[in-house]
Amino acid sequence: MIVLNLSCSNSHSFEGWFASLEEFQRQAEVHQITCPHCNNAIITKLPSGSHVRRAAPEKTPDLAGSETSQAKILTALEDLLRDSENVASRFPEEARKIHYAEAPPRRIHGTASIDEVHALLDEDIAVVPLPNLLRKDIH
Ligand SMILES: [Zn+2]
Repeated sequence: MIVLNLSCSNSHSFEGWFASLEEFQRQAEVHQITCPHCNNAIITKLPSGSHVRRAAPEKTPDLAGSETSQAKILTALEDLLRDSENVASRFPEEARKIHYAEAPPRRIHGTASIDEVHALLDEDIAVVPLPNLLRKDIH
């Protein structure tokens, strides 16, 4: 039994199991193999080893990928900040008030020391430290 990576003429890729490579070629010639996605019977064999390449650790794309997600996170944070009230150094106080329903629920951002953040977290108040990079956006 062999497993082949196949592709239809609509570029769907899928796996096919065959008794042998000859058996695949025979079935492909008489259009017995069809694409599971679109039933297309024009099937080509992808170069073997594409599996191995995909499984191998890829250092460079990983690094590039983390840069992309970092940029995405920053964009998401900037969006959050736009909808959020700047309470500056009153942040710990305001976060507590919102948590204990003493102030209207809303998004806020501001500054807090590490100790204050830990104290808030201890009280089950969800706070998220923002990277220094965003400081320029906090007016
Ligand atoms: Zn297809």
